[in-house]
Amino acid sequence: KQRLEEAVTADNLTEKVEVRGVGCMRLCCQGPLVQVEKLGTGDWAMGTGEDSKQSPHSKLYEKVTPDDAPSIITAINGGETTVQQGDLTHPFFTSQMPIVLENSGKVDPERIQSYIAANGYQALYHVLREMTPSEVVDAISRSGLRGRGGAGYPTGLKWATVAKAKSDAYNDRSDRKFVICNADEGDPGAFMDRSVLESDPHRVLEGMAIAGYSIGANQGYIYIRAEYPIAINRLQIAIRQAQRLGILGTQIFDSHFDFKIDIRIGAGAYVCGEETALMASIEGKRGTPHPRPPYPAESGLWGYPTLINNVETYANVAPIIRKGAEWFANIGTQKSKGTKVFALAGKIRNTGLIEVPMGTSLRQIVEAMGGGVPDGGVVKAVQTGGPSGGCIPAAAFDSPVDYESLTQLGSMMGSGGMIVMDETTNMVDVARFFMEFCMDESCGKCIPCRVGTVQLYKLLTKISEGKASFADLELLEELCDMVKHTSLCGLGQSAPNPVFSTLHYFRDEYLALIS
Ligand code: SF4
Repeated sequence: KQRLEEAVTADNLTEKVEVRGVGCMRLCCQGPLVQVEKLGTGDWAMGTGEDSKQSPHSKLYEKVTPDDAPSIITAINGGETTVQQGDLTHPFFTSQMPIVLENSGKVDPERIQSYIAANGYQALYHVLREMTPSEVVDAISRSGLRGRGGAGYPTGLKWATVAKAKSDAYNDRSDRKFVICNADEGDPGAFMDRSVLESDPHRVLEGMAIAGYSIGANQGYIYIRAEYPIAINRLQIAIRQAQRLGILGTQIFDSHFDFKIDIRIGAGAYVCGEETALMASIEGKRGTPHPRPPYPAESGLWGYPTLINNVETYANVAPIIRKGAEWFANIGTQKSKGTKVFALAGKIRNTGLIEVPMGTSLRQIVEAMGGGVPDGGVVKAVQTGGPSGGCIPAAAFDSPVDYESLTQLGSMMGSGGMIVMDETTNMVDVARFFMEFCMDESCGKCIPCRVGTVQLYKLLTKISEGKASFADLELLEELCDMVKHTSLCGLGQSAPNPVFSTLHYFRDEYLALIS
């Protein structure tokens, strides 16, 4: 960015060209990216970061180095440039429908003015001036938004439950409630939430404040993993800026609504993404899950009713309020409304972030948008849902991507990680990799998960080394069933899923190793 600014100054273009540091531009494999966009006035704006939204006048420069800066400025002046240019008409960009990512690659995440100029905080202002809390809950319900953290629970129903809940914590008759943003994204291959927070942190703060108003909470917490230092830094900046402008704090927009947001940093335990473990961690206790009920909506943080949603869910709230519940409900499928952000990774040409309407087929995502396997390879399967999900074979790629279809295929939406595998991938090794992950991340509180994942990992290792018998395969299936049905929390309950799906679709690979 600095070199571009220097080049702009050297060419006396400071009056005409604005260099703007922005967040994720989505096409990770070609980064660092610089996008040049012609504004209506005849002036130019440049986003430097990982991607941005295209207009007919946009130009995208790929794999940019600092030394490319003068050449890009020369091109703005009508000259020639040798810097590699991207194709903004590729389906990777044109098939996307940015709602959550609408500002990513456009606004400067460290300047609140940039967010406000992009209609930021309009929804919060509107809600505080024109809507009652129950009208907000009703709008979220009508939109059909479902939790983007994995399970797909209806967001409006969750908000309504917390809004109605009465606190009985410590016999405290006060009406304290809390809003929590789960930013403990830890699935291997998933980086959607990190990107949203790094690119557009105010959007998440706005969604949380609207949630706080609708359920009657005055305090929010963002629980974020320590491995995301840039996201943490940008959130801290965003919270300070919003407080200074009276958008967070007391009497927001001169209303009677007070709302504060604090950050809590996790110490790297995957299980703290489970909501009861997450709340224990915020309370300063060891981050281990506890049985439900009681559910957080009734008895959550310190025993008070608590609303927990993830980053992407909150990021959808402001556009729903601004554009209307019906607008959102018209996007997607009958049961899965809106869009979903996916992190495309693995053996695929165009790795990066995509946001597509629910119901888009896996084929469109993997082959058209992702460009298939590099060097002419053949796609074998795609893994969705992280360690709790499953592997979907290429033969099922015409299925739409929505909550129900992915579950029917033996996988799940999860938070949005999508790892593509080619024909060189051994599916037993894939199952073993995810089992090792669960074994390492098991908190050890309950025996089925603590001991079961170790046993499953050992059995998978034995199979992949060609030392297993048919009896071992039977034992593997029996043990998977036991771990699934007797573990305390979602980590253990879903740990066998990658084994189930690979056994279902790629059983011959297991049998080949046994025979
Ligand atoms: Fe801990 Fe695993 Fe039991 Fe969950 S299932 S409580 S992670 S041991």
